[in-house]
Amino acid sequence: MTTPRPLFVFLLIATTILILSPRLNATPRAETKTSSGEVRESERISARSSSASETSGVREVISDKYKTRYEAWKEEFLSTDIGRAQWEMYAHHPRLLLTITVANNGKNANGAGSGKYKWNDAGELVAATIVLGTQIDEGYPSSVYYPVMNALEPFESRQLIGGSVLAATKIAHEFGHVMKMSSTSQDLYHLQIQLVPVYNKIFLSNGYNVNDPRLVELAKKMGGNPVELWEDREYWGEANAMLFLRDRVAKEKFHCRLFGKIKRAVEEYAKDYEERFAEIAKEQGAIYTCGWK
Ligand SMILES: [Zn+2]
Repeated sequence: MTTPRPLFVFLLIATTILILSPRLNATPRAETKTSSGEVRESERISARSSSASETSGVREVISDKYKTRYEAWKEEFLSTDIGRAQWEMYAHHPRLLLTITVANNGKNANGAGSGKYKWNDAGELVAATIVLGTQIDEGYPSSVYYPVMNALEPFESRQLIGGSVLAATKIAHEFGHVMKMSSTSQDLYHLQIQLVPVYNKIFLSNGYNVNDPRLVELAKKMGGNPVELWEDREYWGEANAMLFLRDRVAKEKFHCRLFGKIKRAVEEYAKDYEERFAEIAKEQGAIYTCGWK
């Protein structure tokens, strides 16, 4: 392919971040701002642990003002077998402390993120944090990297699903990231964090030439170029989002229409990753395969 796809994708990543930003016409939710513009967290923040241990389980750190919406999103996630099973797995996890919080992350109120990963000396993941934006029940990211979440849009506009389904799908996407990270080694993760900026700096200064031997070498060390790493990571998140939706909409009439929409986006943008999505559609327990082979 002669098109500088990595450049195209870099721009897409930038666009994706913008798409995850709140809608400009969204009704602002009441928040007190200080003169310096910072949001004052005057309300009480309570932490709740679903495990007796302080070092493992699920720790929910939710400020009072976000509690109602958070509980609705969580309830939606837990309304499915897969959501409950994944939640229980983390709630009773022997080592991992999963912190979940809702935060006013400014422009990214419709998005969410995972991070603060920690590993123990045995190389096992022992800590992770999921930060949910304050309005994850709104906003559909692009179908290029988010074929599952994006597919929900027409169903919400036709009022077949509510915003809490979108929010729970975003939670499932983040759970997918944490699950994938559990099988990623600390060394590889840190190497990627360290080398991606080095790669990008060379890429931006060499005329976007991905065949530059320095870049080929860096990509080999990291297990892929930054775009491939990004794609792989996001599509694991999306695969888990699809697993959640498979349960959530299994009995809905529009089930196959939704899965067909996901299929078309995967075929168009994520062909190399099709297998992980197809497996979910065909897996035992799926009521219909909806044309996935
Ligand atoms: Zn993601």
